[in-house]
Amino acid sequence: MYAIRDELVAELEGIREAGLWKSERELTGPQGASVGTAAGPALNFCANNYLGLADHPEIIAAAKSALDEFGYGMASVRFICGTQTQHTALESEIAEFLGMDAAILYSSCFDANGGLFEVLLTAEDAVISDELNHASIIDGIRLCKAARYRYKNRDMADLEAQLTAARDAGSRRVLVVTDGVFSMDGSFAPLDAICGLAEQFGALVMVDDSHATGFVGPRGRGTPERFSVVDRVDIVSGTLGKALGGASGGFIAARTEIVDLLRQRSRPYLFSNAVAPAVVAGSRVALRLAAEADEGRARLRENAALFRQLMEAAGFDILPGEHPIHAVMFPGEDGARQAKAVSEEMLRLGVYVIAFSFPVVPRGKARIRVQLSAAHSSDDVRACVDAFVSARAAVGARAE
Ligand SMILES: *Cc1c(COP(=O)(O)O)cnc(C)c1O
Repeated sequence: MYAIRDELVAELEGIREAGLWKSERELTGPQGASVGTAAGPALNFCANNYLGLADHPEIIAAAKSALDEFGYGMASVRFICGTQTQHTALESEIAEFLGMDAAILYSSCFDANGGLFEVLLTAEDAVISDELNHASIIDGIRLCKAARYRYKNRDMADLEAQLTAARDAGSRRVLVVTDGVFSMDGSFAPLDAICGLAEQFGALVMVDDSHATGFVGPRGRGTPERFSVVDRVDIVSGTLGKALGGASGGFIAARTEIVDLLRQRSRPYLFSNAVAPAVVAGSRVALRLAAEADEGRARLRENAALFRQLMEAAGFDILPGEHPIHAVMFPGEDGARQAKAVSEEMLRLGVYVIAFSFPVVPRGKARIRVQLSAAHSSDDVRACVDAFVSARAAVGARAE
């Protein structure tokens, strides 16, 4: 028996006993407003499929024809022989869509964030990060030698204090980093205020807009567009794995010199395979569809507003906001158990939502996260709310 087996078994037991075990449900078909599961079809309210593009016929057709035209795989990193005409085209299209100078593709946004900070920041520099930033930002920051400052979620007084501290410490470059949207709350980073403070302190601003690109802002350009600061943000990272077709791949869009330097120095870019041809072709169509998706964005807004209105009328406690992510709160000591029980009951009723509790969210702030999509009909939204009401009653009755 290998030496650490018992330790691993104990660790696995510990995860189960703490109620933190993550199990995976298998879908029997494509991602969509409704998905196939072993227990039958379910309305899906937990995907990042905001514009409903994950099973879009035009994207699938483009990916299929790319298999014929460009082959299956690249078998190379970009700088050796992994750059096709379409990789470069997609990068220009991303930059143009976001109103940035240039863009660079990665295998994922996780990799994009992992490969950014080390290239731009040394031990002489400082990075100032929102406490709720995504795991990939946290890991990317760990890989660089810059001094680290953290500010309270969306707290501008604290950001100012941290900027002051970084400047007082004599930092050369200072970079402020934030998620555009905080995915557990559905809240926006106040980018106008962040840019104002950054300018005051001569700092750069980076936004990870993974939960926004394609559908936030009047034309879907993301959180910088929503706050009218597109030309004041220096770096945007994002994913092709959410609203933009949902396959895989990520990018950084930024000022030209930043992108040029990443192409020379960024390790996940230099030492990892190029994005697969079919995914690049599909993403190009997804980006075009997103640019044209005024109707889809309107439907997404309507679905989100309807959900909020019906849930509030039914007496549920939802965090305020306008993003299609909704946090339905189950506060207090028993909240984690209630949220889990309600979500399981809802799946029995054919509605798929996920409960989150500590340590993913703070203790006592358990929730069920609901994500609306333009692919949902208003009947789907009503069915989701009905399932919440029935599940709450069933779980409440069982508890008594
Ligand atoms: C989803 C997400 C990522 C990771 O994107 P991938 O392309 O799936 O690696 C990074 N940052 C944020 C804020 C995200 O929501």
